[in-house]
Amino acid sequence: MVMRPWNFSAGPSALPLEVLQQAAAEMTDWHGCGMSVMEMSHRGKQFTQIRDEAEADLRELLAVPDDYEVLFMQGGATAENAIVPLNLIGRGQAGKADYILTGIWSNKSHKEAQRYGDIAVAASSETDTVIDGASQAPWTWYPAAQDWKVRPDASYLHLCSNETIGGLELAVLPDMAALGVPDVPLVVDASSHFLSRPIDFSKAAMVYAGAQKNAGPAGVTMVIIRKDLVGHALPACPTAFDYANVAAADSMFNTPPTYAIYIAGLVFKWLKRQGGVAAIEAANQAKAQALYAYLDGSGFYANRVHPASRSRMNVPFFLCDESLNSEFLSQAEAAGLMQLKGHKSVGGMRASIYNAVPLEAIQSLISYMQDFERRHG
Ligand SMILES: *Cc1c(COP(=O)(O)O)cnc(C)c1O
Repeated sequence: MVMRPWNFSAGPSALPLEVLQQAAAEMTDWHGCGMSVMEMSHRGKQFTQIRDEAEADLRELLAVPDDYEVLFMQGGATAENAIVPLNLIGRGQAGKADYILTGIWSNKSHKEAQRYGDIAVAASSETDTVIDGASQAPWTWYPAAQDWKVRPDASYLHLCSNETIGGLELAVLPDMAALGVPDVPLVVDASSHFLSRPIDFSKAAMVYAGAQKNAGPAGVTMVIIRKDLVGHALPACPTAFDYANVAAADSMFNTPPTYAIYIAGLVFKWLKRQGGVAAIEAANQAKAQALYAYLDGSGFYANRVHPASRSRMNVPFFLCDESLNSEFLSQAEAAGLMQLKGHKSVGGMRASIYNAVPLEAIQSLISYMQDFERRHG
């Protein structure tokens, strides 16, 4: 058995060991064809099979409806911050789009979009608020959907359903009809919890995700988009980033990131072997529940996100005595618990507990934290 430390990186992040081992075994000779996946033409029959299976498996895992395109793109979620408005803002006459701001990633999306049209903030958690009688700090809560101010003539509404850095997750996507704006499509940056739970496509018109958080290596971005939203790109939209061109060419408008698609495809097959997205969701719930219950029961560590907005994937936490931070991290590494340092903008610690991080890893983390607390509390 291969012994590796537990990896809590926020991204690029842990991949299933089985996937890495299969990729290693197939590295120089994929299925007896005498070539590495890296060496084969993206238009040849071998890679066409790899791509087609990846799309079919992804569609099956997420029950993607037939009227949605599944695209494999490049540029990461950051490029989508521009590609989304370039493709969608021209749908309406008004050139408007609305954004929900809940943390670093949604703010970046909003900032980039301002280059392309009339962009408004429909709701934001940038201030303190009071929830259930308790004060809640900025960027630690999702504004309630009934308070969102979405313009009826907006070309789309954008939100980030899992704020990787703040550690927030939107448990239920809003129903745009219930918000009184049935014709405004919902666009979701789901990068850091993609494939960790089902996606309700009756609510999301478009979902995008960079692979390197929960679905594969860096280099491929998955875009799932309702077909009626494709074909409205602004004239300035780069040809290779026009969803209509990418869709018409089965994501081979130009050379796709072939090796990243191959590895993501292996991750999809691994997920199917785990029982699919419903099974992995149950595992993710158990993992997150264990860690939050420990944090909440401890006077030594704290998570500051409102319980209803806590992410199952990214769990930031603080030592109440921050002078112990570097000791906590170096001893964690010595104990085989890697990449726990929090994002520089938030500080403290962050445990990213994606699909490929098993409950055993969380249990090891908790025992280490208990032990550290015993020695310093
Ligand atoms: C990581 C991340 C991004 C940025 O991804 P890149 O691949 O670096 O462009 C955007 N949104 C979310 C929610 C993320 O977690």
